[in-house]
Amino acid sequence: MLPEYFEFSLPTKLVYGAGIIGNIEKAVARFGKKRALLVTDAILAGAGPVDKVKNGFKNTDIEIVSVFDNVPPNSTIKTVQECAAQGIANNCDMLIAVGGGSVIDTAKVANLVMKKGGKVEDHMGAYLLETSELLFPSIIIPTTAGTGSEVTKVAVIADPDNDVKLPFAEEQFLPQLAILDPELTLSLPGKLTASTGMDALVHAIEAYVDKEWSPASDALALHAIKLISDNILIACAKPQDIEARGAMLVGSFLAGVAFSHSMVGMVHGISHALGGVYHIPHGLANALILPEVMEYNLESRLDRFADIAITMGISFPEIITDSQSIIKTGKFDLLSKLVEKTELKSLQQAVDSGSSAVKEFAVKKLDSLGFVDQWVRKKAAYAGVDKIRTLNRQLAFLTGIPLNLKDAGIKDNLAKLDQVADTAMEDGSMLYNPVEPKKSDVIEIIKAAYYRKDKPLKVSDEDLKSRTARTGEKAIKGVFKDGDDLYDILVGFYELLKSDAELGPALSKTGLCVQFVYKNPSATITIDATGEELKIVAGDFDGKPEVTMTMDADFAHKFWHGKANLVSALTRRLVVAKGNVPKTLKLLPVLKPAYKLYPQYLKDKGLHDIIMA
Ligand code: NAD
Repeated sequence: MLPEYFEFSLPTKLVYGAGIIGNIEKAVARFGKKRALLVTDAILAGAGPVDKVKNGFKNTDIEIVSVFDNVPPNSTIKTVQECAAQGIANNCDMLIAVGGGSVIDTAKVANLVMKKGGKVEDHMGAYLLETSELLFPSIIIPTTAGTGSEVTKVAVIADPDNDVKLPFAEEQFLPQLAILDPELTLSLPGKLTASTGMDALVHAIEAYVDKEWSPASDALALHAIKLISDNILIACAKPQDIEARGAMLVGSFLAGVAFSHSMVGMVHGISHALGGVYHIPHGLANALILPEVMEYNLESRLDRFADIAITMGISFPEIITDSQSIIKTGKFDLLSKLVEKTELKSLQQAVDSGSSAVKEFAVKKLDSLGFVDQWVRKKAAYAGVDKIRTLNRQLAFLTGIPLNLKDAGIKDNLAKLDQVADTAMEDGSMLYNPVEPKKSDVIEIIKAAYYRKDKPLKVSDEDLKSRTARTGEKAIKGVFKDGDDLYDILVGFYELLKSDAELGPALSKTGLCVQFVYKNPSATITIDATGEELKIVAGDFDGKPEVTMTMDADFAHKFWHGKANLVSALTRRLVVAKGNVPKTLKLLPVLKPAYKLYPQYLKDKGLHDIIMA
């Protein structure tokens, strides 16, 4: 099924990689010379991520001329106004946000005020800017894996005098560049890893069940659900696990793109109100409200909630549908085997005949049992809600997050319940909820989350086993001491290939002339198979190579171990290929055997310490 209409766009360029912040020169080159205002908060300014970002920008044309590090959690209109004033006073023409949603949203709205002037409140609303109106270019570097704000068109800023959170939405909030570096999230404490991670999960789940769903947001939301539910416990139990941190950051980004298109629903409506009235942190409020609202919405989107459960690893059999599909796709012998031992000779013969009439008859008969699968799907959908409750309890065990709104900081016995419900009912997110919310239902949901008596649940080793593929390899840096060392090792290796009984003739057969230009340290080696004799030339080369590959020397080392992804390296410009590149496909038969030879060659040379595991 498809919706009648949907839109999708993402003008933001995004780069991902562990430690990538130390290597951003190419990614930011297109901005040219800029005077940037770096927006962050005091904790981040002291915790390491900001220093890493500043270092990363040192060798670029972007000068960080001013740092605003005064953003509080749940940023306020006063903070945004001060931030914008600092940007204007320092003649900044770019913003770099380094932080969680509070910092990112501050930078987004400050940019609006810097460009358009006036007060923060003047800009509240949705899509007030003409499409032709531009803001200052921005780079967003998230340090929490939660809001996905680096790829959303919205910002939420608190107005503490009126106990509300104000929404802002502009296409121009989307930054030109988002940098996702999981190393910058390693310092995020357990409680915040848990609550911000659950925030991202809520984004993905609400995007998938909302009224504004689309095939594009569905695809992103489901993969986000998988990445987050597979990794959130690991990220909390092993905070330095870079793979789990990376998966969380990517999950948060995918969820952000998904909900930026299909919007969020009642969980957010209520948690925005809880944030405004009781100042409950956004992610935590979301985590506690999520299972209650899932239950509330469940019957209206049964199939979608079952999909979510399956994505989170809950498996259940669809006996009838599976049997029908087996019959339709011709695997009829299974059924035949089933009736083999029965006394019903005529049934067995009919089945054995495999005729289409018999197949149709069998499929139709099973149709009447379709309710069995529907019943099982419903059970699975409810199991998905249980899974979320279990996840919250496990996160409480690992990090100490509270498991009800009372422990989350509501100290007045819910005296402002009516105000929270009224505020929630006015929240824009409510419009997108699959079920039209009633105030009385909102009150019941808040009460349920307030009085819940769940206890923390121990996490087993099995729970902490990764279900996401890992790269599992350590980077090696500075392998070759200098150019001479490189020539000694790599020329020696190419000579070995040349003298190999199989690879030598295979290389000659390519008829190619390929030149490798190495950097760090610098060296040039050409493999010339155009003449009678295969030549390996170190340094200057007289002829004209058909293809020149320029790359970091460390990359070449990784490549010859068979551990480098050449396609991704070309995309990242780690390898620049000039000339008739498709011709290098002729080298393919040589590569795999060469990967095997390289570690052995290093071993024979006594270079054990540079062999990659
Ligand atoms: P946050 O930005 O409020 O940060 C929470 C705390 O974590 C802060 O004290 C911060 O200093 C600390 N922190 C962040 N990164 C850290 C790191 N790497 N190491 C150590 N400490 C770190 O939290 P958040 O959940 O990312 O953002 C919440 C805000 O985002 C709320 O205002 C919410 O309304 C808003 N939000 C915006 C969007 C959007 O699309 N614009 C979506 C969801 C939520």
